[in-house]
Amino acid sequence: MIVIKKVSKSFGNYMALNEIDLEIATGDTVGLAGPSGSGKSTLLRCIQGLEVPDSGVISCSGRPGFMFQDFQLFPHMTVWENILYAPTTRKFLPQSLLEIKASELLLHLGVEQFKDRYPAGLSGGQKQRVALARTLIFNPDILLCDEPTSGLDVATTRDVAVLLKSIQRQKTTVIIASHDLDFLMQISHRIILLKNGGIASDIEPQKLANPIEYLKKLYE
Ligand code: ADP
Repeated sequence: MIVIKKVSKSFGNYMALNEIDLEIATGDTVGLAGPSGSGKSTLLRCIQGLEVPDSGVISCSGRPGFMFQDFQLFPHMTVWENILYAPTTRKFLPQSLLEIKASELLLHLGVEQFKDRYPAGLSGGQKQRVALARTLIFNPDILLCDEPTSGLDVATTRDVAVLLKSIQRQKTTVIIASHDLDFLMQISHRIILLKNGGIASDIEPQKLANPIEYLKKLYE
């Protein structure tokens, strides 16, 4: 369960989040939609603790993990090193267990054969899978994804949707910020539309005849 109560965050004079109230049930997949600058990333970053709200409270039952926009893999490290660097440094688990888990994740995500490659030698979709492995190695209870399909083609975007669905089945709570309504529609139980730092709409897409049209009208 994630409970967000009256959370506000400003950057200078710009109010990125304006008294957000939101509850997200454990195991739900929630899409955060909204135009650029509407506060999607800021909300994810506040949940992860990467930004501190100016006011309000966020409580999470469980540990969040963050998947950054544009992958943010270390260019000078191989796939294997990218995945193991942070958990090894933080001594998250004994090294032998970390290596077993890294191998399992690479296999599950279909990038095992690329473990000795550097990020420059991977396609966008492969980088996305490695970025996902790097986040999942920490066993997050809550997965926060910031624009996970930006720069990916239609087929690769579909692959990312399938991957995220496989995480849903493990009862992880997933929150995805994306401007791509079609993508969000494929995977979300619930879509929250942010506008000017506030919640403009909160829908369950399965319950609407044409959720994309409905949300597009609210964008305007
Ligand atoms: P979105 O993810 O919906 O595009 P963001 O949450 O990234 O929106 O940004 C909301 C607003 O806050 C934007 O106008 C952005 O420029 C501003 N903003 C976000 N982070 C910072 C920051 N660290 N410093 C200054 N302004 C920021």
